[in-house]
Amino acid sequence: MKVTEHIAQAKGTLVSFEILPPLKGKSIQSIYDHLDPLMEFKPSFINVTYHRSETMFKKKADGTFERVEVRKRPGTVAICAAIKNHYNIDTVPHLICGGFSKGVTEDALIDLSFLGIDNVLVLRGDAAKNEANFEPETHGHAYAVDLLKQVMNLKNGIYLEEDIKNGGKADFCIGTAGYPEKHFESPNPQIDMQRLKEKVCCGAEYIMTQMFFDNQKFFDFVKKCRENDIHIPIIPGLKPITSRKQLSVLPRIFHVDIPTELSEAITRCKTDDECEKVGTEWLIQQSKELKKFGVPVLHYYTLGKPRVIKNVVKELV
Ligand SMILES: Cc1cc2nc3c(=O)[nH]c(=O)nc-3n(C[C@H](O)[C@H](O)[C@H](O)COP(=O)(O)OP(=O)(O)OC[C@H]3O[C@@H](n4cnc5c(N)ncnc54)[C@H](O)[C@@H]3O)c2cc1C
Repeated sequence: MKVTEHIAQAKGTLVSFEILPPLKGKSIQSIYDHLDPLMEFKPSFINVTYHRSETMFKKKADGTFERVEVRKRPGTVAICAAIKNHYNIDTVPHLICGGFSKGVTEDALIDLSFLGIDNVLVLRGDAAKNEANFEPETHGHAYAVDLLKQVMNLKNGIYLEEDIKNGGKADFCIGTAGYPEKHFESPNPQIDMQRLKEKVCCGAEYIMTQMFFDNQKFFDFVKKCRENDIHIPIIPGLKPITSRKQLSVLPRIFHVDIPTELSEAITRCKTDDECEKVGTEWLIQQSKELKKFGVPVLHYYTLGKPRVIKNVVKELV
């Protein structure tokens, strides 16, 4: 079932979770162990992130270095199918431009469609670790909107090979990313909003946001979207803070602010256990307020912390 169908049929706020594929070498059981404790909350769908390969320099026996491409977390397509079969639950694979040619993207979309996966979250992806700025793959896409157009083409049975006439239609429900605190490369919020609107006009059916820790930023973002004639569902992305280190890591990696009240409370904590308590309580309050506001779905980035997410969601039912 599509994310938009889940939302349309819902009687209240839904819950969904996001996971990372396991590190190469770990089994699918590690994913089930991660998700099992969360299944009692009957999530409507599970998102699976995509991680492109990284360039690394491996030291050889003779002391010189060899450049190698390493993909630490492969398997997004297969994990989505495995979760769908194991739990009979919908999955949302993240699809990125980085590292993908249009041809490889098309093949991945065909695989997903054959597997009965109805949803994709279409993203650009960040720059590779060895690049200062995002560089599209040769014959790949530079922006999420371009990838979105390719997915839309496939929805209409249009394949890259012009010889394919009356091709099968891969009817995905397309989600796109939105940034309550603006995407860090955008010169200003207005331009960022125009870019978001382009993605919506091209066929995105809902927006899933970057994490945020101040609900007011989300409320303002929703208001701005509506003022700009963006009327599709907006799903808040939520993450707990569980350590002091995250006070600097999250702003650096995700370009989000941490409110003073929260950062001061975390700074006062002496242990990670204390931080986790503060972060959990903050996320419970955030979730309750968002639910009251009427968000369609509360989407939690579980990122190795299913226990914390469980402690949050059980306060909402
Ligand atoms: C909910 C969510 C899930 C994510 N999951 C993943 C994941 O699984 N894997 C991963 O690698 N990353 C993931 N990311 C990170 C995301 O890929 C990065 O934030 C990336 O930098 C931007 O992706 P985007 O889809 O928003 O890109 P875009 O919409 O392409 O925007 C990127 C930047 O380019 C600008 N822009 C857009 N279109 C144009 C245009 N036509 N001309 C000029 N400028 C333009 C935008 O304003 C923005 O500044 C996720 C982010 C979110 C919010």
